[in-house]
Amino acid sequence: MSDCLFCKIIAGDIPSALVHQDDSLVTFKDIHPQAPLHVLIVPRKHIASLNDLSPDDDALVGSMFRRAAALAKEHGYHERGYRTVFNTNREAGQTVFHIHLHLLAGRGLTWPPG
Ligand code: 5GP
Ligand code: ZN
Repeated sequence: MSDCLFCKIIAGDIPSALVHQDDSLVTFKDIHPQAPLHVLIVPRKHIASLNDLSPDDDALVGSMFRRAAALAKEHGYHERGYRTVFNTNREAGQTVFHIHLHLLAGRGLTWPPG
């Protein structure tokens, strides 16, 4: 999608701190990190929000969570703990309308979230 920030990052038109990429997912550091590890796991396919998922995306979304677990382990946080978050629409604070899974780790994360 031409006016989508994350599509531009995936295309390499806007720089990012790349952490991992494969055929279907790109992972880069959040520009305003909220924890020592804060990365965004983003499908190459443009999907605006969780409200726009179809059954065809089930495997893709599953792979996003498996990537999060792999990265948490790679960074040594798999036993301490980590949080994975999708924000959807206004009250949840979604600001970029291309789905992305936040992976946060490296500090005590409070519950309930704000
Ligand atoms: P949301 O609020 O939609 O759940 O998450 C969007 C995230 O994207 C925010 O945590 C924000 O800091 C991050 N972000 C916004 N613009 C950029 C950018 O240009 N580059 C990177 N790497 N992250 C961004
Ligand atoms: Zn997009």
